[in-house]
Amino acid sequence: MATGVTMIKDIRPGQSNWTAEVMVIEKGFPRLTQNKKLYQKLVFIDAEDETNWIQVMCKVVDYNQKFYYMSCSKCIKGTTARGNTPFWCSYCKQRLLPMPRCKFNIELSDSIGIIVATLFGEKAESMFSIDGEYLRENIQQDQLSDVAMEKLGTGIEYAVQVRAYKYEAREVALCLFNVKAFFPTNEIIEDILQLTLEPETP
Ligand SMILES: [Zn+2]
Repeated sequence: MATGVTMIKDIRPGQSNWTAEVMVIEKGFPRLTQNKKLYQKLVFIDAEDETNWIQVMCKVVDYNQKFYYMSCSKCIKGTTARGNTPFWCSYCKQRLLPMPRCKFNIELSDSIGIIVATLFGEKAESMFSIDGEYLRENIQQDQLSDVAMEKLGTGIEYAVQVRAYKYEAREVALCLFNVKAFFPTNEIIEDILQLTLEPETP
């Protein structure tokens, strides 16, 4: 991060000469004010919005989904190529093997609520100890095998960092969540114990 960068929450009304690193998450149509001045509504977030850690139970509850997509083995963009023969990736400009890549929704729940978040690639692999190839082998006629179902449907507790994406569809505001990072809860507890209970050895 550049020096002299202000977080959005620290900017005070009337304050000038600040710099913030932001991302636009919502963009309105350009409109005119009563004085015929053009304006546009933009919603910004900065890095501080990304640190939403929640301690939740993670599991798949919806088995009526695809679970993986075929992707380029180099750039992970989706492809219609199937099987194990190289295809021409128009992004990478070379022939590469298609590869099944995990992408599925999981339910995150704690004592007060439930959200549905999407899990991609490596995150899905390490959360459930599976990979895209495993899913491809364990799906027959759009049906997940019993073993795979048990692997994905058994709740595992994690401290999860989610990223929210807001969008509006037919005037209903929706929020999509992506899993950004996660840690087993017991690892965090062990770390805390180590920090607080163990005396420093020289
Ligand atoms: Zn590619």
